Amino acid sequence: MADKIVFDNGKTTITLAEHAGFCYGVQRALETAYETIRKYRDNEDTQVRTFGPIIHNDDVIDGLKEMGVFICDAPGEVSPEDVIIIRSHGVGRDIESEIGQRAHRVIDATCPYVKRIHKLVSEAHEQGKQIVIIGDRNHHEVQGINGWCGYSAMILDNVDEAVSAVGKIAGEKTEGAPVFVVAQTTLNRRTWDECTGIILDRIPDAELNCTICSATGNRQNACRELAKKSDMMIIIGSRSSSNTRKLFEIAEEECSKTYFVENKRFLSLKDVKKCNRIGISAGASAPERIIKEVIAYMSEVITNNPEEKESSMQDMMEEIEKSFKVPQRNDIVKGEVIQVGPREVYVNLGYKKDGVIPKDEVSLEEGQDLESLFKVGDEVEAKVLKTDDGDGNVLLSRKKIEISAHWNEIVKAFEDKAVIEVKVVREVKGGVIASYKEVSGFIPMSQLNDRYVEKADEFIGQTLQVKVSRVDQRRNKAVFSHKTFLNEEKSKKIDQIWASLHVGDVVEGTVMRFTDYGAFVDIGGIDGLLHISEISWGKLKHPQEALTIGQKINVKILSMNQEKGKISLGLKQNTPEPWSVIDENYQVGQIIEGKVVQLKEYGAFVEIEPGLDGLVHISEIAARRVNNIADELTVGQTVSTKILDIDYEKRRISLSIKAALPEGEAEEQPEEETAE
Ligand code: SF4
Repeated sequence: MADKIVFDNGKTTITLAEHAGFCYGVQRALETAYETIRKYRDNEDTQVRTFGPIIHNDDVIDGLKEMGVFICDAPGEVSPEDVIIIRSHGVGRDIESEIGQRAHRVIDATCPYVKRIHKLVSEAHEQGKQIVIIGDRNHHEVQGINGWCGYSAMILDNVDEAVSAVGKIAGEKTEGAPVFVVAQTTLNRRTWDECTGIILDRIPDAELNCTICSATGNRQNACRELAKKSDMMIIIGSRSSSNTRKLFEIAEEECSKTYFVENKRFLSLKDVKKCNRIGISAGASAPERIIKEVIAYMSEVITNNPEEKESSMQDMMEEIEKSFKVPQRNDIVKGEVIQVGPREVYVNLGYKKDGVIPKDEVSLEEGQDLESLFKVGDEVEAKVLKTDDGDGNVLLSRKKIEISAHWNEIVKAFEDKAVIEVKVVREVKGGVIASYKEVSGFIPMSQLNDRYVEKADEFIGQTLQVKVSRVDQRRNKAVFSHKTFLNEEKSKKIDQIWASLHVGDVVEGTVMRFTDYGAFVDIGGIDGLLHISEISWGKLKHPQEALTIGQKINVKILSMNQEKGKISLGLKQNTPEPWSVIDENYQVGQIIEGKVVQLKEYGAFVEIEPGLDGLVHISEIAARRVNNIADELTVGQTVSTKILDIDYEKRRISLSIKAALPEGEAEEQPEEETAE
């Protein structure tokens, strides 16, 4: 975010620096203090006190005193009923331990950035290193840091001290103690660079740990830039605040009319009226209330017209309000990308703080990076994870927004009964976890396939099409089914097959199985019944007399009932009914071969083709007299016969074996009478 013009009457502007006011550590310490006060307010056996001023701001300290929270300055002052809140600047290890032994309870409000320095210094000290702290030796923070290396640190307040001390440091180093340098968190960056430059000149292997807090750096940079553009700078904060004093020094370097004000009473109204471009910055411990008061007071002085005064005051208060506003956790915010790096994206939200989206909070496809996904100027939407990431930015997540959108897509798919694609990621008890973009759901074992699944691991890594069977976003639960998808696809395919078939169509099918009454034939996804009577024009005792399993045949659809799922098929219909074409194939007097299919007392029936039987009367079986047909013929025997007659009306064919005998054979037999 940029500097904020909070007042503009066409003649004079008042601009608030991009970074000004409470930092993360101060905000956190005060929230801790107020929470502790609330907690112990009604407990008469305890007394809440702070160890040292909780932050360096007299207004805040006075406010706490009014609430009955006083400062205790030394461990000896701590009594057993005290609930001690350790100041944001921290204390030494020995003091912390002594307070812990004396107090009822200790609440540590030390800024985490300061705590980090305690840890660094403590470890380096244990490793035998010589600690050097660049900072103000009278400041609580520096004294506290020194207390984590047994008060053995060498403290350099400024460049002159660095110049005169570096020889001593180098001397100690030659005695074998490596040098470990840290900074007071509010140190001016220029002082750090100059002091460490001097140290490195003499001790090139000195370990430098620039522990200047980014909140400090941000405030200092913003203050310097604003001071360059202003003809008057107002630095708001307490004189006891080190970082506010540093801001004052920086502003003074760039703007000759720089004033340090603790509150509106310190304002030089005469100078305010003379200047047109007034810049304002505030220390990390300056409360928002005081900053607003100072700005309001100045604008009142600048504006003379009462009407203009009222409306400009209103506008101004709104602007100030906006500049201090910070989005709340879980808010969805929109902003403009102002910087894209390999590890994070910075977004101008139009609030007091900028937003930062770390790489982990963006869904990236394989091989994709932030630079390819975001461009400066892009508008992005994100969800607020934290109002402060520790560096003074609002911590944002794109992923959380995407997850929300992905949940919405799943809910919609559930409502619309639509299909979504998921990737199976791991096996769990009773099934697998599959991810839909950023959302994970469960597929029970029984829903992984339309057949029995013994081992789920074969599905890991597979992309499956699924239907959503259950969804509960509040509980973060979604259940998917691949089986339902497969079954529905099958049923769709079957519907398509039904729609493509018509009675009378001839289709290819495969003989699948037999029953006594026919054969089931698969005609491309559905089975139809080929009844035994529809297999052949002749008579069959079992379908396997004419067919084999797996045989491909062309069948005619005789009837269909989609509701009952039944299709009747016919095979014999592929050839003409024999009597309908008998004239084309058979004539009286023609000699043909046939198979004896039935024996009767009066003659034998011979099948000349399936569906076409003729009768050989007993008198026509042989050239001699036959008394018992079974003596002459057997069922299944192939015989040569002559067609004697074709009766179209009665559908009868008279045959004669005798007449079909070669002439010699027929003549050799004595003539016998035939009897019915
Ligand atoms: S300036 Fe930095 S180190 Fe100091 S309290 Fe604020 S956040 Fe913590």
